[in-house]
Amino acid sequence: MTDFSRTRSLFTIPEGVIYLDGNSLGALSSAVSARVSRMIEAEWGGELIRGWNSAGWMVQPRRVGDRVARLIGAAPGTVVMGDTLSIKVYQALAAALSLNPSRRVILSDSGNFPSDLYMAQGLVRMLGDRAALKVVEPEQVEAAIDDSVAVLMLTEVDYRTGRMHDMAALTKKAHAAGALTVWDLAHSAGAVPVDLAGCDADFAVGCTYKYLNGGPGAPAFIYVAPRHADVAPPALSGWMGHEAPFAFDLDYRPGGGIERMRIGTPPIIALAALDAALDAWDGVSMQDVRKASVALSELFIAEVEQRCPSLTLASPRESSRRGSQVSFRHADGYAIMRALIARGVIGDFRAPDALRFGFTPLYIGEAEVRAAVDILEKVLVEKLWDKPEYRQKELVT
Ligand SMILES: *Cc1c(COP(=O)(O)O)cnc(C)c1O
Repeated sequence: MTDFSRTRSLFTIPEGVIYLDGNSLGALSSAVSARVSRMIEAEWGGELIRGWNSAGWMVQPRRVGDRVARLIGAAPGTVVMGDTLSIKVYQALAAALSLNPSRRVILSDSGNFPSDLYMAQGLVRMLGDRAALKVVEPEQVEAAIDDSVAVLMLTEVDYRTGRMHDMAALTKKAHAAGALTVWDLAHSAGAVPVDLAGCDADFAVGCTYKYLNGGPGAPAFIYVAPRHADVAPPALSGWMGHEAPFAFDLDYRPGGGIERMRIGTPPIIALAALDAALDAWDGVSMQDVRKASVALSELFIAEVEQRCPSLTLASPRESSRRGSQVSFRHADGYAIMRALIARGVIGDFRAPDALRFGFTPLYIGEAEVRAAVDILEKVLVEKLWDKPEYRQKELVT
């Protein structure tokens, strides 16, 4: 059994804040600052360039990748860290497309995060007639999988509503049709149990600053199924993915296995922060996290529907089809969210009208959920959101 009182004690949430935005930027765990300071002072300051060997910086992307692998049902040695998620999407998609050379369709859906679609559009532009992007409604994905599809590229959990695709079933259908899969786990890793090996997924990618609490801009991850790892051609062929980076050969030769998905020099300070943040996951079972997250989400939905009738549920009602977030719609959603944030309840807003709340059992419990609804109810009943300053859009919503 996961001890959530232990995990809660590991996080520092400011006084007076109820943090329901761990789906966008995870909270700070107390171990991070000490680890980053040590890395900077002892490793960087003390070891200087020697740190690449003596402090294990060079193997850090693989070592941290193994820690993430456990949380997404992947075997050790199949995940590597680095770059941002958008770049990892491009890399996975390009590799998957190369592995299915007789087909050109990339199938995705309109529930995908725009950056994933933008990266696919950029790749398609570069490849000309070799590739085409087809985007259908999320409900139409299953029917659209046919023998023209080279790669099925989906985000498991919808960033706006939390709607969840059936990864096992869609992967199976894609394989039966001769397509490969690229799964984006941005809102899955650390949020819901994922079984990449069990689903027989081909490629997966994700970020670590959301539910994994790695900090703003924390390095992303990429998973490649062992059967593809030694044959997937790297489109972004940087020296860190070379078979022998320090041979300084003029020609690129991909490294063995997942190593070839590395590109350039890894962000060691950010990896130290992530590595420390991942300590909070030691001894945590994703099944327990899921159970607690469903309970918190159900409580939130029930309370909001009872006390805030002007809000409409935008997330699937059935918990098995929902990730670890709940969204409600309201025409004045942006102003309402700003008024909530001003009163310490931090969620976020996604255009055009969704108020989004994330549930992270590692550091959020029932008491916070109830207290958040108290404030939400007050903001709505007393129309506290109806102020010009709350309508002014900020750079980041
Ligand atoms: C958060 C998120 C991203 C963000 O990509 P970055 O390169 O890290 O900015 C991309 N895709 C999905 C599905 C996301 O949820």
